Amino acid sequence: MKKIQAQKGTKDILPSEIINWQFIENVAINTFNNANYQEIRTPIFEATELFSRGVGDSTDIVNKEMYSFEKNNRSLTLRPEGTASVVRAYIEQGFFRMPSPQKFWYKGPMFRYERPQTGRQRQFHQVGVEFFGEEKPTADAEVILSACNFLNNLGLNHLTVEINSLGCNKCRSHFRANLKKILLPKLDNLCDDCKMRYEKNPLRILDCKNETCMKELTANDIEEFIQSDFICEECNEHYSMLKNYLNQLDIKYIENKKLVRGLDYYNRTVFEIKSNNLGSQNAICGGGRYDNLVETLGGPKTPAIGFAMGLERLNLLINQKKPSKLDYFIISSNAIEALKLVNLVRRHNKSADFDYSNKKFTKQFEKAAKVANFALILGEDEIKNNTLSIKNLNTSNQNTIKFSEFLKSL
Ligand code: ATP
Ligand code: MG
Repeated sequence: MKKIQAQKGTKDILPSEIINWQFIENVAINTFNNANYQEIRTPIFEATELFSRGVGDSTDIVNKEMYSFEKNNRSLTLRPEGTASVVRAYIEQGFFRMPSPQKFWYKGPMFRYERPQTGRQRQFHQVGVEFFGEEKPTADAEVILSACNFLNNLGLNHLTVEINSLGCNKCRSHFRANLKKILLPKLDNLCDDCKMRYEKNPLRILDCKNETCMKELTANDIEEFIQSDFICEECNEHYSMLKNYLNQLDIKYIENKKLVRGLDYYNRTVFEIKSNNLGSQNAICGGGRYDNLVETLGGPKTPAIGFAMGLERLNLLINQKKPSKLDYFIISSNAIEALKLVNLVRRHNKSADFDYSNKKFTKQFEKAAKVANFALILGEDEIKNNTLSIKNLNTSNQNTIKFSEFLKSL
């Protein structure tokens, strides 16, 4: 029969790779728990409207990349990112009534219909944090610090933190109007996506990866305009305080005035962390402040900030770790005794396995040497004498001890 294959842009994570994934997950648990973030697990599918309203319907994610389907006359979507779902839960579960701040972290698969390439899949994984209820830049600093600590704890370096401030609605609308004015004469030269962005969200044009658009944006007048300070006094103070905190924390950053991020909900602080060791898919973390999203999704006005990181890209940066061997492999000609011993060892929280088909001892030893550190030998003599022979499979040292002694040693 014809074989069925995994879908394009999806991957099996194999046993040989899982050790790295578990390492990343354990570091996430430690790092974020230590920083007082609580893990939250939201459903993998949600109402489509959550993303069209939350992520924004001028974004690539909503326009081109969503896996949406109908069920019982409802439009549902496999989540393309985590923030909208966490905000939905924050509102639905009434977390806004609890003392601020409320800090969450999450991990799990996300789905976007994109062109698969190294570090870009259709089902991929993210970890992220969402910090609700504090508008002061101390929150921004702590969120960026937590992202950096997580990456440090993974042993990653050669990373660059880029930051920018998009300002608030007020100062941004001023910037947007002027940006449109200055882009108008060049509009014909921009790509089709940017022509649409021009009306819906012109800021996003700054982030276009199309070569002609990028060239147009380096024109002197535009460059000068982008580099000009447009944000209002309050936003500027927020941004200056954040930079001061980052300096004090010794977090190196670059200011990138073209950093706008691909989602509609950001305001004030936006940031990205890039690796110098990945090719074109070099962004490993993206985040920012979204002070209006909770309200947009039907909750009370609540300032918030968060980030998400791509685990496939982190994985490309982490050396493949070696899977650990079993503590014991039991060698026996008596299946029942082997089963009993394996059970006993496991109940003492040691890892163990045995040969299920009762092969010859030489075969069992070959298998043991491959998978375990010690062989426990239960031959006829050992069973008769209530003893056990232990062979160190790394040094080949072997000795026989009383069964009761072995139990004590566990
Ligand atoms: P990119 O510019 O690479 O498309 P993005 O801005 O769309 O990234 P975000 O939505 O900010 O990405 O998601 C945060 C992180 O998730 C990214 O920095 C990246 O590491 C990872 N990521 C996003 N899309 C994918 C994907 N299709 N496959 C693998 N990882 C992804
Ligand atoms: Mg993208």
